[in-house]
Amino acid sequence: MTPLSKIVIVGGGTAGWLAAAMLRHHLRQDVCEITLVESEDLGTVGIGESTVPPFVGLLRRLGIDEREFVQETEATYKLGIRFVGWHQHDDSYFHPFGVIGRPIETHDFYQCWLKARARGDRSSLQEFSPCSVMAQNGRFFLPTRARNTPIGGANYALHVDAAHVARYLRGYSEARGLKRIEGHVTEVARAANGFIERLTLEDGRKIDGDFFIDCTGFKGLLIEKALGVGFNDWSQYLACDRAIAVKTEHAGPIMPYTQATAQKAGWSWRIPLQHRLGHGYVYASRFCSDAEARSTLMRTIDSPALEEPKIIPFTTGHRRQLWKDNCLSLGLAAGFIEPLEATAIHLIARGVEFFLRYFPDRNCDPALTREYNRRMVADFEEVRDFVVLHYCATQRDDSRFWRWCREIALPDSLQERIELFKRHGALREGVDELFRKSSWQSVFEGMGIRPTGYCPRVDHLDYTQIQATLETAREAIRGMVAHLPTHEEFLQAQTGAPTP
Ligand SMILES: Cc1cc2nc3c(=O)[nH]c(=O)nc-3n(C[C@H](O)[C@H](O)[C@H](O)COP(=O)(O)OP(=O)(O)OC[C@H]3O[C@@H](n4cnc5c(N)ncnc54)[C@H](O)[C@@H]3O)c2cc1C
Repeated sequence: MTPLSKIVIVGGGTAGWLAAAMLRHHLRQDVCEITLVESEDLGTVGIGESTVPPFVGLLRRLGIDEREFVQETEATYKLGIRFVGWHQHDDSYFHPFGVIGRPIETHDFYQCWLKARARGDRSSLQEFSPCSVMAQNGRFFLPTRARNTPIGGANYALHVDAAHVARYLRGYSEARGLKRIEGHVTEVARAANGFIERLTLEDGRKIDGDFFIDCTGFKGLLIEKALGVGFNDWSQYLACDRAIAVKTEHAGPIMPYTQATAQKAGWSWRIPLQHRLGHGYVYASRFCSDAEARSTLMRTIDSPALEEPKIIPFTTGHRRQLWKDNCLSLGLAAGFIEPLEATAIHLIARGVEFFLRYFPDRNCDPALTREYNRRMVADFEEVRDFVVLHYCATQRDDSRFWRWCREIALPDSLQERIELFKRHGALREGVDELFRKSSWQSVFEGMGIRPTGYCPRVDHLDYTQIQATLETAREAIRGMVAHLPTHEEFLQAQTGAPTP
């Protein structure tokens, strides 16, 4: 074993700085030096404002004070996503974090609810989700401080300012010994065995390392340009390939959720931060020109723009090998699935976690890289299937884009999930999966896919008990949420920031 003694990260976007923070936290400085090279002239994608709940857990594991982080990154709390106009033009649904209902004795809540619906009960699934009820009422409280209450099963993520996050993580990493080099990498030299040996900067400086992490964004300077691993393109499942984004002034109350509104050739986002809003339109260039996209975006914004809108082209998919030899790719360099469920930052963190799990020595045994690639591709596929579900069941046929979404051939893994769910209300759920059953159930329900029956085991439970439990649970959540602070009041108490 010849341990890694010098890891070089190339790129200082969210991927680079998150990797730096996590590695600096986990690896001893006297054993392994970590250097990050970035070019301020090239800049970052500067976007990525919505996260998922594991991000909050990650902050905790890094020993970061959540309150301080919320303050420094102008963050707001996120209880889920409100989808407007996805199933039909004029409807909406909510995908909440956290639980929906609790088991009744040993019976799955969802199956009990299905039976109640079959018997004529009119309650909606989301009435049993603490996050949905809080979001609908614009209220927020930390579920971690209310565990044994009706909102104890809630969960949350954050909306963050991407530039502030990179700055915060840079401070965190440098305080723990990370060495940062400002410079533009122009050459990647490889050894006879194909491993990357050295980087050369524009000004001639050389940077040696025994392991390299490519965080250079879409171009994949090391993993693709130098190592040419190839790309697995998923455009046949997801048509969107461009986004136009703009930051705007604050408007209205700060809602504790992301809004994703279906548009003629894609969808637009609205993300509230403490000091401003983030807006964007993700669209399919085969159905919509950049000029049309710009005018759609400008129609959706509800406050003055703070900058010129910026267009970001992307290809959906992932590198065929995310880790090859002594080069690991993370972030946009590794792959990208449109930001509908805000999963990209999560996939960066997963990449670093798996890298630490399969941590190599200088030889980088191919058995480790194979296992890493298998696990990461499984994560990418899970996200892809979940995102495709939001489109494929649409009833919309009012544009070429939506007709295309209805007609695509689904990945087998998603087709099997849908069939199992439709016939039995059951879900294939792995221990390691990001989206748990309440997520799938919410999107299935929101997109009009409901099982044809319920699990027959529920008939072994007295129906009056089901009815009484549903009634009590619904009232308990509603009653408690009515007494919670509004999201703005909570933020103000947490951060001391003035309410805009
Ligand atoms: C439209 C859109 C919306 C998104 N929304 C979300 C979201 O809501 N939630 C979410 O989790 N994610 C989202 N993402 C993804 C998220 O933005 C990225 O995952 C995240 O910002 C990481 O980017 P990155 O660090 O990989 O790349 P970048 O930000 O592009 O950083 C690349 C870095 O590499 C450096 N670099 C490049 N070439 C060189 C070179 N030759 N020499 C030196 N340095 C170099 C650059 O200077 C820069 O520092 C979104 C992405 C897009 C496109």
